[in-house]
Amino acid sequence: MDRRQRFEKYGWLISKTQSILKHYSCPESCNASCCKHHIIDLYRKEYEKILKNVDKESVNIFKSNAVKSELEGCYKAINAVGQCSLLINSKCRIYDNRPEACRTFPFVIFSDVEAGFGLTLLLCPMSVNIIRDYAQWYKSVNSTMYNQLNVVYEQHKDINKNNDFCVQMKEHNLDSFIEFLERKYSLVSFLCSFSRIWGSEAVEKKMRGLTPHFSHHILLFYLFLYRSTANRLATP
Ligand code: SF4
Ligand code: SF4
Repeated sequence: MDRRQRFEKYGWLISKTQSILKHYSCPESCNASCCKHHIIDLYRKEYEKILKNVDKESVNIFKSNAVKSELEGCYKAINAVGQCSLLINSKCRIYDNRPEACRTFPFVIFSDVEAGFGLTLLLCPMSVNIIRDYAQWYKSVNSTMYNQLNVVYEQHKDINKNNDFCVQMKEHNLDSFIEFLERKYSLVSFLCSFSRIWGSEAVEKKMRGLTPHFSHHILLFYLFLYRSTANRLATP
């Protein structure tokens, strides 16, 4: 793979991670645990670009805490207690300019000699939900993977901070998995709007864990309820 192909592959993987991540959010209870336990590596170019775009105080913090990483040509921004030095009161002080690795987290794009780059998903309070959905996607494709991912989900669904366990994301699955998520979450947000009408946040939360197939049954049930109510109101 030449330099241009590697560059394209990297961009492609970033766009796939963003298409997946837009369906999820971080629970407040996590309190930015990734910024405290997972120190990212920055290539020199990215490090310099960030320095140009952030406020003076961030530049000083960044510069005085940057150390050379084990990866060649890379830096880490790590403070005396081993956390990212740009994390202040559990908030990133350069959020709009944060490094690419922070934007794709809990996905990690790693260098691979043959494939250029590969993709892995680290375990954290948000990614357990991605793992749950990935298991649902696998159900009709590979029952062994479905069972394995379900076990991971069940064991870690109440996790409250990130750890180093990771799930490999096969690149040939990504487009189909993203389509699955689009279908699932468009149906879920439609059903959630019904649930909100009836004021049940608990129902809304439950729905995010359903498969598209089951959501479809619920949708039919809601339509049935709606039609029965409309018929009753129309009867003099
Ligand atoms: S560890 Fe996961 S859930 Fe927590 S802030 Fe980071 S990405 Fe979000
Ligand atoms: S740069 Fe910001 S988002 Fe990235 S690890 Fe540091 S505090 Fe977290």
